[in-house]
Amino acid sequence: MRKQYLHLSVYSCDRCSGPVVAGSLAVRENEISKETDIQQVGAICLSCGHRQSKMTKLGMPRQFPPVEWEQQITADASHSSMVVEEVLNHAT
Ligand SMILES: [Zn+2]
Repeated sequence: MRKQYLHLSVYSCDRCSGPVVAGSLAVRENEISKETDIQQVGAICLSCGHRQSKMTKLGMPRQFPPVEWEQQITADASHSSMVVEEVLNHAT
């Protein structure tokens, strides 16, 4: 059973030292397989809105446990739906 997982990590903002939340989506073919099709879905500081995609300060990002994510295909999320289409193509 192919499932999509959302990973979140948080690190310190270069501008204000606030929390930057970075997300990525990965696909797992089944319970025991490795994750594939990893897509960065963006990063943003919750404090000042700075879009910082890489951690530049010393220290480790805080990783949150991945959660299963069911994503719907919508017209607005053209990038995301493209990814989903790609995933579906691989499946057939
Ligand atoms: Zn900031």
